[in-house]
Amino acid sequence: MTYLEHQFNKKGQPICAICAVAYDKLLLHVNKRHGLNAQEYKVRFGLNPRKGIQSRKLQKLMRKAALANYDKVIMQNLIIGGISSRFKEGNTATDIERVRETSRERMTLQWARKKQSNNMGVVQLATEIARQLRNLK
Ligand SMILES: [Zn+2]
Repeated sequence: MTYLEHQFNKKGQPICAICAVAYDKLLLHVNKRHGLNAQEYKVRFGLNPRKGIQSRKLQKLMRKAALANYDKVIMQNLIIGGISSRFKEGNTATDIERVRETSRERMTLQWARKKQSNNMGVVQLATEIARQLRNLK
């Protein structure tokens, strides 16, 4: 499935496909002004339903906030929380859509490199951290 790319203005703000005005938080505008939720808007305009739509400025702010709260946001939610849904060797598709061929090749290569290294893998590391957190309680 190929999705359309969303349009942005020169300031890096996404432009509403309905009224052609740009907003930092476009999906909030779409919901309040046009009564569509994010999923309905993305489907109507052929956009990737799994990809967010926000201004570059807001993206940077959110990235900064996530990195400032690394322990909770990245370690707990993404690294530990993502273990069950992470790509594993032999996977060919996600639940919702097929993984693009290039992404799959890249992930397979990355996985092979990770295997080669003698370092503790991410899964082992996360498991070890989770074990230690349990012991602290
Ligand atoms: Zn609009």
